[in-house]
Amino acid sequence: MSGGGRDVYQRLTTIGEDTLYKSLLLAINALCASTVWAQSPSPAPSVHWEELTAADFKSAIGRAQGTCLLPFGILEKHGAHLPLGNDLLNVRYAALNAAQQEYAIVFPEYYFGQIFEAKHQPGTVAYSRGLQLQLLQETTDEMARNGCKKVIVVNGHGGNNSLLPFFAQTQLDAPHDYVVYVLGISRSGPGEPKHKSNPATDMHAGESETSMSMIARPDLVHLDRAPQESGADQARLKLPEGLYTGIWWYARFPNHYAGEGAAATRELGEFEAKTWINGVVQAIRAVKADQESLRLQNEFYERSKHPLETPQ
Ligand SMILES: [Zn+2]
Repeated sequence: MSGGGRDVYQRLTTIGEDTLYKSLLLAINALCASTVWAQSPSPAPSVHWEELTAADFKSAIGRAQGTCLLPFGILEKHGAHLPLGNDLLNVRYAALNAAQQEYAIVFPEYYFGQIFEAKHQPGTVAYSRGLQLQLLQETTDEMARNGCKKVIVVNGHGGNNSLLPFFAQTQLDAPHDYVVYVLGISRSGPGEPKHKSNPATDMHAGESETSMSMIARPDLVHLDRAPQESGADQARLKLPEGLYTGIWWYARFPNHYAGEGAAATRELGEFEAKTWINGVVQAIRAVKADQESLRLQNEFYERSKHPLETPQ
């Protein structure tokens, strides 16, 4: 609510014994302050989609230039020491902070990605292949119908690294009046504090990810439990590089844990959080400035209706 009106009310009702003259002076002062307040630029609305009223949503779409974020996570085991929702908690931390720096609307909690490889662990929720794609398509369609003509899927889970670019590719199958962008996980960068564990196998709930969690949700990190099981690479499959099979992850990390979570530090986490937030901010700015993707999509959709007329 606006501060000015409430001030007048509180002042007039708490003055008590004061003269009417003094009360009126205070009221006039408060009303002047209220007028100044009304003329200053309105504060940014919440970046949370679900916290906006319908009318505020409409103006927020204008403020965001139609740019919306879909932080994309999963429910899966994260070693012995991190919560099931770790990836979404972390990616939302980065996305929400970024959207506050460069305004964008952030879609509510979305846990519906690819995680078949952890179905043998408690707490994993793995929707079928078709549903993952359909739900994501209907979600971005609904976002676009509400004015999000530029949707940035901000990935927080390595198991989505094939799904999300595939989803973006499939947007060319039929015309859409909006653009899907996919932003990969980007927590590392130049000037990073030295890692204590081997970066090559620091892949899941290890030093890096645990450090990030220590910033996003320190209350959910049980660092003392990290050594309870091994996150070592068991290398049980001998296949040449470039030859892929889906069981590769289970073959290497059957505990669904890769790395050494106990090596995590707040120092590394602070660096990662800052790097990730900056990366999302840069992506929002680039997407807002991008006028070519939609233009080229439209040209492509038109040509794809009659390929024999496409200039050769
Ligand atoms: Zn994770």
